[in-house]
Amino acid sequence: MSKESKEPTNENSPNLPDQPPQLDPWGQGLFSEEDYERLTKEFGIGLIQDVDIPYSMFEKNRFLRRKIIYGHRDFHMIVGALQHEKPWAVMSGIKPSGRFHLGTLITASEIVEFQKMGGYVYYAIADVESFVDNGMSYDESFEYAVDNIADVLTLGLDPERAYIWMQSREPRVKDMPYTAGRHVTSNMMRAIYGEREFALYMAALVQVGDILMPQLRDDVMPTVVPVGIDQEPHIRLVRDLTRHFSKTTINLETGKEEKIPFFKPAATYHKLLPGLDDINKKMSKSRPNSYFNLGDDPKSIKKKMMGAYTGGRANREEQEKLGGIPENCMVFKLLEIHFQPDDAKLQDRYQRCRGGMLCGTCKKEVVKVILDMIQDHNERKKEFIPIAREILSREPY
Ligand code: SF4
Repeated sequence: MSKESKEPTNENSPNLPDQPPQLDPWGQGLFSEEDYERLTKEFGIGLIQDVDIPYSMFEKNRFLRRKIIYGHRDFHMIVGALQHEKPWAVMSGIKPSGRFHLGTLITASEIVEFQKMGGYVYYAIADVESFVDNGMSYDESFEYAVDNIADVLTLGLDPERAYIWMQSREPRVKDMPYTAGRHVTSNMMRAIYGEREFALYMAALVQVGDILMPQLRDDVMPTVVPVGIDQEPHIRLVRDLTRHFSKTTINLETGKEEKIPFFKPAATYHKLLPGLDDINKKMSKSRPNSYFNLGDDPKSIKKKMMGAYTGGRANREEQEKLGGIPENCMVFKLLEIHFQPDDAKLQDRYQRCRGGMLCGTCKKEVVKVILDMIQDHNERKKEFIPIAREILSREPY
């Protein structure tokens, strides 16, 4: 699931200086292409390019189409459910400890795209995790949750085809540390997460309930969880524990009870977004120019965009002769992930960049695109604030 960007608070984070970065759902990593390759092999993650995905799915999901999603587990189950017109779910969530920023917005946008493809959405507000990881009260988290859900609704989530819950109020997930905890040892948690505070292990078990929610609340069905690669440890934990869950039904032919095992949740993985100011560094609150929130002052966003890291050449002459490198440019990355839904316009910018457009000219145009889009988003968001508050005030159902 997605998480609020912050410096790692946990001194036991498995990421140590001078060692290759590890997957840490509560830290904040940045991985090189070699790291992605190493982690993919180490944990047996599949490559999305190896899944036979029908064109209609690419059409409806820009994260698949633009290869922003690169890895997966069992994604073929979702493809199969779609092809056989069987129900399937997309599950995600947010730790409500801040407003959406460029990083956390990715997962929120992904669930909207998966809903467009036909998935029923299950969305967790991980306020238990905000309390454990950030020391934030449930009341404080609630206000951020309202803001976050209003953003997701503005992005296009259809609330009629979604179940949204607060962890602290949902017994099906709050009880999960006991239910799933019967099958978990401390060695197992250490192997997956490293040596951490016990409360973080508990929060991870609560999240098992979140990820299994489609099958706990409704029917046994394939579920996909779109996440950043750093959340992979949660996926491994829940997939390992799923074998202990089933639903009992009556076989109408024999009249006997039958147990139907839960599907192991599938997952898709996207690469982590580097800092806006330096493609080789992670986003960090200690470097305010490395990110912005959708609610930030337009002047501040413009300033950060004008100072963004680009794939431009050393000087004007080289840029005009050789062209820029959009693959190495944070300006282009932001358009690709968030701010240019139109493929033809994105392709046009790619070509103009390769054709020698100057970065200053390009940035000015992109700033206008981004600020217009954010202004429109924030205008439309106003009407969703009371709706988000009402949704989050509902009792679990
Ligand atoms: S021209 Fe635009 S897309 Fe190309 S490197 Fe410069 S800022 Fe990036």
